[in-house]
Amino acid sequence: MLNADFRPLSYFPLSVWPWQETVKAVFMGRVNIVSHYDRVVRSPSFAMRLPSVVSLKSYIPAARRPAFTRFNVFLRDRFTCQYCNTHASAEDLTFDHVIPKSMGGLTMWENVVAACEPCNLRKGGALPDACGMHPRTRPFAPTVRQLQENGRAYPPNHLHHSWRDFLYWDSELDPA
Ligand SMILES: [Zn+2]
Repeated sequence: MLNADFRPLSYFPLSVWPWQETVKAVFMGRVNIVSHYDRVVRSPSFAMRLPSVVSLKSYIPAARRPAFTRFNVFLRDRFTCQYCNTHASAEDLTFDHVIPKSMGGLTMWENVVAACEPCNLRKGGALPDACGMHPRTRPFAPTVRQLQENGRAYPPNHLHHSWRDFLYWDSELDPA
């Protein structure tokens, strides 16, 4: 799914829609088909090649501040436990309140970091000074640009070849 300026709506996770949504958007006239798969979808009354890349007809301005979500916290912290520096997938990471909630710590960018499960357990409900565990990077509210920069390092595993023209990391990662 590309914005009207042919840039992906988001870089990570990539803007990917289920094919049913995409076909629906085509019929509602919300998107232009940019590229197709070979596969054809049929109903009793019509058949169409499945779109592989579509672009919105009207431009959606990019959000000025990234949403505060679990996933964006992991992306800000580069999928790395902020206590032991272990790299992990989103499924294996947890988020940790630097100042524990039980001590008034808030759930916000400046107080939440990515942590592996063992570190999260070890830290428990203690303050950083009490347990000697300080995050490697002081947590901060990232800009969209900072998250996009981090997202560049983590392209999705499966890219259909028709997507590649629209993804700026392709030429860097796959020169062949
Ligand atoms: Zn850890």
